[in-house]
Amino acid sequence: MSRSYEDLRKELVERLVKEGIIRSEKVARAMMRVPRELFVPEKLRDLAYMDHPLPIGWGQTISAPHMVAMMTEVLDPQPGDVVLEIGAGSGYHAAVIAEIVCSNGGHVYTIERIAPLAAFAQRNLAKAGYSHCVTVIIGDGSGGLPELAPFNRIIITAAAPSVPKVLLQQLSVGGTLVAPVGRLWEQRLIIVRRVSESEYRTEYGTYCIFVPLIGRYGWSPDVAKT
Ligand code: SAH
Repeated sequence: MSRSYEDLRKELVERLVKEGIIRSEKVARAMMRVPRELFVPEKLRDLAYMDHPLPIGWGQTISAPHMVAMMTEVLDPQPGDVVLEIGAGSGYHAAVIAEIVCSNGGHVYTIERIAPLAAFAQRNLAKAGYSHCVTVIIGDGSGGLPELAPFNRIIITAAAPSVPKVLLQQLSVGGTLVAPVGRLWEQRLIIVRRVSESEYRTEYGTYCIFVPLIGRYGWSPDVAKT
């Protein structure tokens, strides 16, 4: 008999806990609740609980579960937070964050530059029941969303050449930004905390590989085919 998606999800989350990648109860709970199989193309559903990135079309990928877990741990979203994600992709990571922040009136805004992928994310989020608390916006998110700032948390899920300064200004005091920053095919997670109006503290996390952030404060579109 084939195993249910729920069994596979439980097994994956337990493994990530055992490996020390998931450290908090809230991230474990969120990843236990979000059905990743609804965020991958239908023909790849049976691969949804492998700890791998998967193609979602237009040359883009849904990140591997361990990367979603690591980034969410360092982002450390709190119930009630207003969060900005740049790079909606499948909508999966937005749903994981939504599980944590939305219980207490929080909200996730997620921006995607490829319109059909934004539609894919929106459909997936609706199927999984997150539409009320996640808003998908089409466009270049590299400059953030100044009209809705400040945000308690900002997460870039595409590789940036550097942290755009405009995004740091959109972080509330006490807020955290997480982003993969570096060269095109090798980056390092950067965690920036805004400790006061004018003071930021930066920490460095794991090495990683993300698809490029393309846009005004990212890479030029020449680096990608789309
Ligand atoms: N968080 C996603 C995975 C992101 S893949 C998930 O959970 O599935 C990175 C995404 O960032 C891609 O879909 C890519 O099209 C998008 N992207 C790249 N540059 C962008 C930009 N400037 N603004 C918004 N989205 C961007």
